[in-house]
Order: sequence, then C-alpha cells, then structure tokens
Amino acid sequence: MTSSSLQARALELDAADPLAPLREQFLAPDDFDVVSYLDGNSLGRPLRATAALLDGFVRTQWGGQLIRGWNSPADPWLSWPERLGDRLGSAALGAAPGQVVVADSTTVLLYKLARTAVAARPGRREIVVDTDNFPTDRYIVEGIAAECDLDLVWIETDPAAGITPDQVAAAVTSSTALVLLSHVAYRSGWLADAAAINEIAHAAGALTLWDLSHSVGSVELSLDDWGVDLAVGCTYKYLNGGPGAPAFAYVASALHGAVEGQPIHGWMGHRDSFEMGPGYEPAPGIRALLSGTPPILAMVPLDANLDMLSTATIQAVRRKSLQLTDYVLLLADEWLVPHGVTVVSPRDPARRGGHVTLRREGFAALLEPLWQRGVIPDYRQPDGLRIGPAPLSTSFAEVYRGLDALRSLL
Ligand SMILES: *Cc1c(COP(=O)(O)O)cnc(C)c1O
Repeated sequence: MTSSSLQARALELDAADPLAPLREQFLAPDDFDVVSYLDGNSLGRPLRATAALLDGFVRTQWGGQLIRGWNSPADPWLSWPERLGDRLGSAALGAAPGQVVVADSTTVLLYKLARTAVAARPGRREIVVDTDNFPTDRYIVEGIAAECDLDLVWIETDPAAGITPDQVAAAVTSSTALVLLSHVAYRSGWLADAAAINEIAHAAGALTLWDLSHSVGSVELSLDDWGVDLAVGCTYKYLNGGPGAPAFAYVASALHGAVEGQPIHGWMGHRDSFEMGPGYEPAPGIRALLSGTPPILAMVPLDANLDMLSTATIQAVRRKSLQLTDYVLLLADEWLVPHGVTVVSPRDPARRGGHVTLRREGFAALLEPLWQRGVIPDYRQPDGLRIGPAPLSTSFAEVYRGLDALRSLL
C-alpha cells in the first residue's frame, strides 16, 4: 500500500471511532512537543478534569475540612480504598463489590498477596512463576522463597509469546501453593488464558495470583467468572492515575478469611483503627489487606478516569485497542519488516493484549532520536520497541505519525 493510502486508512478509522471525542478530554492531546504518544502502557496521559480535581481537593477538601476529611459524612477519606476499589471492580475488573482495595504499590501488594496465598496453603512448598514475568514479580517471589523456605518452579516462556495452560499443567503438583503470572506479558503483549489456567491450578489445590498491570483498562476482565483467587495491578498505565498512583488488589470473597495472613499488620487494617487498643485484630473482609494511611492525594485522579472508562465501557476500549494494534501491525508489515524488523507479539487478536513489540538489533539507539522528534514509545531489553497506543487518548493518525518517524529513522 502507498503511504497516502495508509494515511487515508488512519483518517477513516478516526472518523468511524466512537471513542474519538473523548480525546478532547485529555490535557492538550496535540499540544506540547508530542507528535505521537505510544507509551500508554507505561504512563497514561492526564485528563483535563484531573488538574481541576487535584486543585479542588487541595483547596476545599484538604484546606477546608482538614483532619475532619477522614470521617466527613459525605465521602470519608478512610473509605476511599474500598470505594475506589468497588468502582474499579465494576468498571474494569468484572468484580462484585467488596473484593478490591486501592493501596500501596503493585510491588508491595504482590508481596502481601503472595504471602497470604502461601499462608493459606500450609505444607505446600512450591510457587510456580515464569521466567519472563515482570522483574518486580520475580524478585518478590525470590524474596518470599528465601524468607519462608519455599522452592520456586520456573516455567520457561517464549519471550515472543507467553504462558500457556499446558505449561502450567506440567508445572503444578500437589506441592504447589501458588501460581503467579502476568495476564498480559509486559514484553510480548501475550494475553494468557486466565480461566483455563485457574482451573488447572485449582485442580491441583493451588491458588492463583494474577498481575493485571498491563491488562487493566485495556482488555476485558471477568475476575469473578474466571475464578481468579488474587490479583494486583497498576493504576498509572491504562488507567491514567498519574506517576506513582497507588495500586489495587483483588481478593475473591471466598478467601477473605485468609487475608489476615498478609504480613504487614497495621492500624488501617485493624477492626477499629481508632480504638488504639493492644494487639492486632483484622478488619472483616478485604480491608485487612490495608496497612498504613491511604495515599489520598494520589487517589484523587482515579475518580475522573473511572468516570471516563465507565462511560466509554471497557468493551469499546478493547474493540478500539485491537483496531489500533491491527493498524500498528499493518504499518509494521508495510514499512518496517522489509528493513529487518520482527514483530514479537501475537498476531492472533484473541491472544494479543494492548501493545505490540517490534524488535531489531540497534533499536536502543533509536529511542533518543524518536523522543527528540516527539515520538514516544518505550524500549525493553533486548532490542524491543514497545508500541502501546492507549485507546481512550490515542488516534490512528497519531499511530501513523509515530511509525512514519520510525520508518524514516530506519
Ligand atoms: C508496571 C508493572 C509493575 C510495576 O510495579 P510498581 O510497584 O508500580 O513499580 C509490576 N508488574 C507489572 C507486570 C507491570 O507491568
């Protein structure tokens, strides 16, 4: 196809895109020096409403209510971890109320949930994890294995694809306490079959813990229906929560009795935080997963993002996400593959998450010149450029501009 017909295709797709009007709600989508933002899978863009919400929170809630805000009758800050958790559960996770909290970072929640799982499966000595899982996930379970004298069972994953049910079936045994996996692989974008893997883990008596950092706000999730036991994820990627926004954790209600097995007992997870009594008594339900004071300021943006996601619907987001990555694949095949670039992401839409990774020797050296041109993908070892268009904020024309710049540098 000629460049002009590829460009015409982008304009057609933008014209037919039901989510296109939402781009206006992001802060200056076409201002600044940003020509093409292709890293929605690492840090989402801010909404205009976020700037106003943060300003308003400082002036009226913090400045006006002061300490009373924690218990304000209208919207007590103390309930935000669960209030926002429930909103997230309904807009993005397929989780009934009472099973999600917003707190800490993904890394810290992973630690708490993995320890919870191990405590809930006493006598079982093994944790199953894959070699291509995100570094923090691997480091956390390596630490837990050392701390609790457990063994890690590593599944070797194909870095261009991802974890399959057969691999999990071959790894779990009657000694497996926990299977820890990413739902969408951060490198390849592979979308794992969570329902099938849960069934295999459960048949062996093990629990599952899913890292949803690259899934949430991008692909449809049905945690309750899929029989997920435990899950964590970021809110600063496709959920646009802002740099370092707190994470979320899901604990299926059947496991709520096990949450006191989480190792960081603090006053915010206590049955009555302000009783100030001797000895820890866990709060009922998922609240026991909390440890210290919730990061309220950093949660402020989430309401606006969840408003937008609920209006858009995750089904429409996923539909556009697949169209965006199909378009990335089309441009890559036309322009980049002839120059020695390989696509290291699934072409099958049923197994493709929200981003596409392109590999070519020497790609690391292209990141700086691309950023200078206002084209912003990210780079992951080895030789991988990740193209992560965020469906709510990225246009097809923006994808065209970005890959056109990459082509001219090659
Ligand atoms: C981004 C990401 C994280 C980040 O964890 P933090 O504690 O927020 O730094 C963890 N796991 C996966 C799979 C990620 O993609």
